[in-house]
Amino acid sequence: RILDDVIPPSDIGVTFDDIGALENVKDTLNELVMLPLQRPELFCKSQLTKPWKGILLFGPPGTGKTMLAKAVATKAGANFINISMSSITSKLFGEGEKYVKAVFSLASKIAPCVVFVDKVDSLLGRRENSGEHEAARKIKNEFMVNWDGLRTKDSERVMILAATNRPFDLDEAVIRRLPRRLMVNLPDAPNRAKILKVILAKEDLAQDVDLDSVASMTNGYSGSDLKNLCVTAAYRPIREIVEKEKKELAAASADGRSPPTPYSSADIR
Ligand code: ATP
Repeated sequence: RILDDVIPPSDIGVTFDDIGALENVKDTLNELVMLPLQRPELFCKSQLTKPWKGILLFGPPGTGKTMLAKAVATKAGANFINISMSSITSKLFGEGEKYVKAVFSLASKIAPCVVFVDKVDSLLGRRENSGEHEAARKIKNEFMVNWDGLRTKDSERVMILAATNRPFDLDEAVIRRLPRRLMVNLPDAPNRAKILKVILAKEDLAQDVDLDSVASMTNGYSGSDLKNLCVTAAYRPIREIVEKEKKELAAASADGRSPPTPYSSADIR
């Protein structure tokens, strides 16, 4: 069952080129994750460069945290396992602890491996926040114990990447295990333009589309909001063409003419 949750690097399907803007975070991830996963021997000489076993990506929803984790795993040629409290509890009622233990043991066997903990606040949040459930407490303890065990030679090329929109809900013990924290913030206008360019890179845009002006009109939009905006815009010509077809069909049948040939994708502008 756990093997189904492992995504091999060739199937992850996200690269740094698919992510617009966020250059600093990409560079930092390259240094903190990609190199240690690929060449751990470079980092083991000195106590000061021992690879970080936990990196936190925090910031508003839809800003690209999951994409970044996937892209760095792709670049490192690492397997990717995505776990979250909701996936653990929905799939494995009552067996969460065993699952967590198995994930860590599998991650070492299939290293290099990135274990991505999405919404880490719900898996490893502060106890007082949730009137914590016994099962959740056990899962959390299991996670922490195994996390601390990632110091052996076998687990050298296993890295925990955690993401949250609520960094202040993490408890001290978790924060301590995530000494490197990278903020993934909402993009400003120039970065929104970069993200739009990436999202639309393979699209056939009209000559007069001005992405800088779209970027300047979308203050407060996340990368995910920009993607949704583009999807909505891409649906419009389809809707228009279907409306046009309906009108032409109605006119043809009113005049007793044979129905017009439907439009094709080549007619979508
Ligand atoms: P959440 O905090 O809600 O889990 P997230 O920060 O992990 O969100 P992602 O899941 O990585 O965000 O991004 C959601 C979608 O938004 C992506 O699949 C992608 O389509 C788009 N997106 C977000 N940021 C970018 C970006 N910088 N460049 C290109 N697309 C982006």
